[in-house]
Amino acid sequence: MTYRAPLTDIGFALKYGTALAPEIEQGLFGDLTIDDVDAIVAEAGRFADEVIAPLNRIGDTFGTQFKDGVVTTAPGWKEAYRDWRLAGWNSVTAPAAWGGQALPQIVNAACTEMWHAASIGFANGPMLTMAAIDALNAHGSDTLKRTYLEKLVSGEWMGTMQLTEPQAGSDVGALRTRAERAADGSYRVTGQKIFITYGEHDFTDNIIHFVLARLPDAPPGTRGISLFLVPKFLLNPDGSLGARNDVRAHSVEHKLGIHGSPTCTMIFGDAGGATAFLIGQENAGMACMFTMMNRARLAVGLQGVGIAERATQQALAYARERRQGRVPGMKSAEMAPIIAHPDVRRMVLTMRALTQGARAICYATAIAIDRSERSSDEAARKTALQRASLLTPVAKAFSTDIANEVASLGVQVHGGMGYIEETGAAQHFRDARIAAIYEGTNGIQAIDLVTRKLPLSGGAAVAAHLDELRGIVQSLSASNDPAFGWTAVRLADAVESLARATNWLLGKLDKEPDAALAGASPYLRLFGLATGGCLLAQGALAALRLNADTAARLAVTRFFAEHCAVGAGALERTVVEGAAGLLGAEAALA
Ligand SMILES: Cc1cc2nc3c(=O)[nH]c(=O)nc-3n(C[C@H](O)[C@H](O)[C@H](O)COP(=O)(O)OP(=O)(O)OC[C@H]3O[C@@H](n4cnc5c(N)ncnc54)[C@H](O)[C@@H]3O)c2cc1C
Repeated sequence: MTYRAPLTDIGFALKYGTALAPEIEQGLFGDLTIDDVDAIVAEAGRFADEVIAPLNRIGDTFGTQFKDGVVTTAPGWKEAYRDWRLAGWNSVTAPAAWGGQALPQIVNAACTEMWHAASIGFANGPMLTMAAIDALNAHGSDTLKRTYLEKLVSGEWMGTMQLTEPQAGSDVGALRTRAERAADGSYRVTGQKIFITYGEHDFTDNIIHFVLARLPDAPPGTRGISLFLVPKFLLNPDGSLGARNDVRAHSVEHKLGIHGSPTCTMIFGDAGGATAFLIGQENAGMACMFTMMNRARLAVGLQGVGIAERATQQALAYARERRQGRVPGMKSAEMAPIIAHPDVRRMVLTMRALTQGARAICYATAIAIDRSERSSDEAARKTALQRASLLTPVAKAFSTDIANEVASLGVQVHGGMGYIEETGAAQHFRDARIAAIYEGTNGIQAIDLVTRKLPLSGGAAVAAHLDELRGIVQSLSASNDPAFGWTAVRLADAVESLARATNWLLGKLDKEPDAALAGASPYLRLFGLATGGCLLAQGALAALRLNADTAARLAVTRFFAEHCAVGAGALERTVVEGAAGLLGAEAALA
């Protein structure tokens, strides 16, 4: 079975789960209408279903070919990319000044989810181009913008993101790639980068590398890193492609999943140094790269949502077809579809609920970014920026953690057939694995949440978030609809667990930072469960008001609260009580 973009769920989550509709009515997005949003999302869904999704399997089986420095992508991929960019999908949020459509981030979030559901291996290259556009637009000189932005925005050229080196993964500050100042104001870069997504490919005739490197007199660590733009082909004065720059792909990796995405080792400076142009200031490269990484982190979270959605669709379809065993009241000659068995229902509902909860968190992050960029009130922009900063690590890590769990459940629902490649369930399981690793591992996201995001404005950002969640729970309690079952009680417990764990961590950060770090990952999970559950409840309350697909939304929200969010109390205990046992467990690691 292939993928069908869940337009109703996505449209509802966009408009009511995350308040796009009220923001449109209040004019945050100029003359954009709800009908415009529906039309864009529907057309993206059609493209994802009809053009990209059918190429996912061939990407998995063909992989990428590497010969003499040239990468050939799977049959049909190059053409699909051309059609995708010509349809304008690369430029959805890009600035109008450079040919972009300047549409809301939240609209692009929905599109991004669908591109990745259709094929992560296909979509993760373009995703990095979009992030590169943001970084260049925010930090590049006028000359660099004039030279490169238009072609990056149109997708005629693609961008890459180059941080990782053999000795510098999570610890970016350990990177050794060198940049020397040249007499003409440009730089010469030498060194090696590994694991570079779409570092070389046949989609576009030029590739613009965004490379972190260190100047000879740079201070150590992350304070001594600069960001450079390194084109594969240098440009002639008229903008046409000129000489080949001194950068090449050395090899492509053989991987567990996303086989269609070329992951390259890159060599800079075989012939003395690749010509490079500084983005922003010398030694201030991490701040510029963070612009790129934050967008990419949300996009990787959406990868998680997309692959989880696809795995869920496939598992549900299989569970309706496959017949095994009987349910009470059946004649002995009959066999029941496995979806009739409570344990299979549990698995599929878990898949559906976690996917929708993660979607709600990612879309909430995207609309916070929109508010931070577009609100007319400066204080509102600042508050929204802090909300986006707070939610970004949760959007990335919670969504990709659940993507792994959902894809694994998808294999389980298929039984033995799930382990056999033909069904496709195994590919989702393999493809999902990387999303928890790249763009900063999920462990690093949890550390970011606890050490950098909780202290924002002295804890005011997380306190405001908690207040908002409490407000949703109060509305839920007031609604008193019996179809919600224990939802309000379970979500109230989850939010208070989150509040207590937050206070405990804030109290430990200065005095016992190791104790806070020990609880970072369970805390992020707790944050995701409480937030995802409340955002689903917000959507369910809107569904009640609007009488829109109410039964399904209430059922998913209730399941999330009673079966997923109910784990919040245990996670709180792990955070608050588990640090000493973890830090003192030397004997168990001997
Ligand atoms: C398919 C693929 C595509 C990629 N694409 C790109 C790309 O386009 N550009 C790019 O620059 N990189 C890319 N990467 C690299 C990726 O971002 C890194 O693999 C990732 O950041 C982790 O770094 P590492 O592999 O060195 O693991 P390590 O940093 O060695 O981490 C190993 C483990 O230790 C944990 N850990 C490390 N440090 C800490 C710490 N301080 N505290 C707690 N835990 C810690 C990690 O969470 C992880 O679980 C890609 C990788 C892959 C596999």
